[in-house]
Amino acid sequence: MGDPPNSYATFLRRCEGSTIDVLHHGRRLRVATAASLDLEALVPGTELRLNEALAAVEAVAQGDAGNVVPVVEALADSRILVAVAPDDTRVLGRAGALTSEQLHPGDHVLVDLKSQLVLERIDRAEITDLVLEQVPEVSFEQIGGLGEQIEAIRDAVELPFLQQDLYRTYGLRPPQQGVLLYGPPGCGKTMIAKAVAHELVLRSAEVRGVSVAEALENSAFLNVKGPELLNKYVGETERSIRLVFERAREKAAADHPVVIFFDEMEALFRTRGTGLSSDVETTIVPQLLAEIDGVEGLDNVIVIGASNREDMIDPAILRPGRLDVKIRVRRPNARAGREILGLYLDESVPVREDREQLLDLATREIYDGSPASAFVRVEYSDGGHDTLHFRDFVSGATLRNIVDRAKKLAVKDQIATGIVGVGAQHLQDAITAEFVENEDMPSAAHPEDWARTTGLPGSGRRRVDAVVPLQGRTQGSAAHDEATEEVPS
Ligand code: ADP
Repeated sequence: MGDPPNSYATFLRRCEGSTIDVLHHGRRLRVATAASLDLEALVPGTELRLNEALAAVEAVAQGDAGNVVPVVEALADSRILVAVAPDDTRVLGRAGALTSEQLHPGDHVLVDLKSQLVLERIDRAEITDLVLEQVPEVSFEQIGGLGEQIEAIRDAVELPFLQQDLYRTYGLRPPQQGVLLYGPPGCGKTMIAKAVAHELVLRSAEVRGVSVAEALENSAFLNVKGPELLNKYVGETERSIRLVFERAREKAAADHPVVIFFDEMEALFRTRGTGLSSDVETTIVPQLLAEIDGVEGLDNVIVIGASNREDMIDPAILRPGRLDVKIRVRRPNARAGREILGLYLDESVPVREDREQLLDLATREIYDGSPASAFVRVEYSDGGHDTLHFRDFVSGATLRNIVDRAKKLAVKDQIATGIVGVGAQHLQDAITAEFVENEDMPSAAHPEDWARTTGLPGSGRRRVDAVVPLQGRTQGSAAHDEATEEVPS
């Protein structure tokens, strides 16, 4: 009970005789050691117990908590450069346990900043586990109204990919397999990328003479969402990018097809002014470009980028050898729209009336250009204005939603009345419901941004000043309101 308390310190190095340097409460001290302490066993970072005279008497279990930071570089002299915070890079020593461990830029390490030592390497869930997906079962037949785009991407990607030998015979270098799909959201860009991956699996199974299941097992679809890749910690985004491509190369090295899909690619170029990091684009963009260049030599890696904002796409990404095939995915026009509706309201769906007539009716409703369907008024800074209708905002996703709503209404109807099948009224109500739901879409706060994101017709040429929602169809449609209330959303 009478013994004074002991304190703890971190061993730094041995000195003359049996004295050692330790870090004790942030101060460096040279202290004596008890004869019982095995000096040979001490390594930098070892925790020591000091007695009341501050002589080291015992080595104790090492502290195992601290800060986790990314490695910037392992210096040649075994010291390590770590990024403690943005704009705070430090050189630390290695704790004994790490003396012979290989550390790479981007690795995460546990550090004790007081003793200025890197204590241990921390293994963290790798981003690639999150983005690595089985090749999705989407085929080109499931995509409506994009015949031209599909043909373009097939020419650009599949032909060279599948006919590599033929290309070589003619002395052609198979072109770099990189494609950029751009256009408004919900119009099928992701679907196309998935279908490409699926098609490649089928073809490569054919070429190699293996079963589709086996080919599926071995190929990879890396689905990377631009904003998810952005991380406010220094070096973290770069690390993720590196890991994604590393994983792709690993898979590709075994001769399996790999598709790397970058969704919302513009996020990686849109970092300025977001407060994430001032120099983020100066390191991320070049790294991404370098990685894309790095897979050039690999015949079976295809990089597909998708973006809603063609205006934000860095020209550097489109240079030959990178994503040099640009494919525009437009909003479906009436003909394409009808095709997409038909895909979801196909032969397998019970209908009350003639299917073709139902599709005609729905298409007419959706693509109606009368004032009743007016959606927003766009005012330009040059004084002009445009009235846009619902049809100007229709996407594949909207059309699918409409059919889904109609089907749900038909199910409810069947339960209530016993009458089977989707009818005209269901479609009409579904269209109105979809219309109402989309009404709060225009963003008054950033009309210009909104206009570009939605791919507003003409917005690239004229500055948009304001976007004024119009009430068109919903005005005075109390009857419809009642119907839409019941629609499960
Ligand atoms: P994007 O990547 O362009 O934002 P998606 O490909 O993810 O859009 O489309 C979202 C959903 O909308 C798809 O899962 C699909 O159900 C539907 N869809 C979009 N475009 C089409 C299309 N052209 N044909 C059939 N369905 C479509």
